[in-house]
Amino acid sequence: MLNVPFHHPAWIEVDLRQFKKNLALIQDHIGHSKKICLVVKANAYGHGLVPVAKAALAAKVDYLAVSCLQEGILLRHANINIPVLVLGAIHVEQIPELIKYDLEFTVASHYKAKLVSEVCAQLKKTAKVHLEVDTGMNRTGVRLETAPAVLKFIQANSYFQLIGVYSHLAIADMPGHDFTSNQIKKFTHFIEMYGLNKTVICHLANSAGVTFFSASHLDMVRPGLLAFGYYPSRDMPKKLLDIKPCFSIRAKVSYFKTVLQGAGISYNHTYIAPKDTHILTIPIGYGDGLRRNLSNKAAVLLNGKRYPIVGAICMDQCMVDIGSDSGYVGDVVTIIGTDKNSAIKIEEHSDLCATNVYEILCGFNNRLPRAYHTEAGIVWWQAENCHEL
Ligand SMILES: *Cc1c(COP(=O)(O)O)cnc(C)c1O
Repeated sequence: MLNVPFHHPAWIEVDLRQFKKNLALIQDHIGHSKKICLVVKANAYGHGLVPVAKAALAAKVDYLAVSCLQEGILLRHANINIPVLVLGAIHVEQIPELIKYDLEFTVASHYKAKLVSEVCAQLKKTAKVHLEVDTGMNRTGVRLETAPAVLKFIQANSYFQLIGVYSHLAIADMPGHDFTSNQIKKFTHFIEMYGLNKTVICHLANSAGVTFFSASHLDMVRPGLLAFGYYPSRDMPKKLLDIKPCFSIRAKVSYFKTVLQGAGISYNHTYIAPKDTHILTIPIGYGDGLRRNLSNKAAVLLNGKRYPIVGAICMDQCMVDIGSDSGYVGDVVTIIGTDKNSAIKIEEHSDLCATNVYEILCGFNNRLPRAYHTEAGIVWWQAENCHEL
């Protein structure tokens, strides 16, 4: 493991070969005539925005989606020049830079459409936009009743290039549910009624839509989670079972000590050694994204064997009880991932924290350097500063 930035003793590993495989499997599943818009918001779900975007580029995805202006600018600064769609609601102050960086963005109200056209008039520039309609998510998006008026305004106004129309599925991870079929019906009815299916990119499917609702695939799909190897639901179609996670976390043991029976470990002594035992200190904590809720619950792997995290997880360190086994400073511990024949899945963390995989993944931040496994070997990457997401 040469060239570890700052020789930092804890890191994320991302297997970009598996990630590209996942993209290829998604493309096979939806068919080769349809576009993929890979969602890389929130630092590519914790996998690292720029390296993931570059791998996606190499895998020939058509589009990238981010949530906000600053994520889009980071992609442009990294010389990523394919279309990028900003999904979140935009603010008037952001319009000049959205245009300057050639970011496509979402218009989801008449009010915003007017603001965009005013700013464009001042700048003498056009904006590339996607109209978002709401078919049941009730987050952002023009209601279907008012969408025709906004569409008309955009189509009649020379400051707009209408590139796409989209909507977002709310509960597509429940495969049998009518609500999703209903959302698909409402959306397809809208695009057909206004002839949009022939003129602009119509898109609707998130990972769950990609997986369970082929009628939602339309011209382009917008998977995030699935591309990173996680399933939107436990009952996955067989065809997609080769999609696998590509994310691991490892750290080097930083300290070893023997403690006596009855000794309390870490803040507030929430763990008391039941017998004389060996305790390892691991240099990763909630300051890196290892959730404090996992204290006395989660485990790590050392030499293929599971050991419990004991006592409160600290900001930068946590402790592991290895009983009478031995462990040495510098040994590599796996916090998430596989080691020999054992594995710790990220779902263990999300279940123990009563949350979803998304939140655990994007909680791992940029203090951890990232090692990318590529066809050409391991490439390390460290965000230069906290602004470089
Ligand atoms: C986050 C997001 C996605 C991707 O969702 P996944 O469940 O990760 O596939 C797609 N579309 C929109 C509008 C989103 O906000």
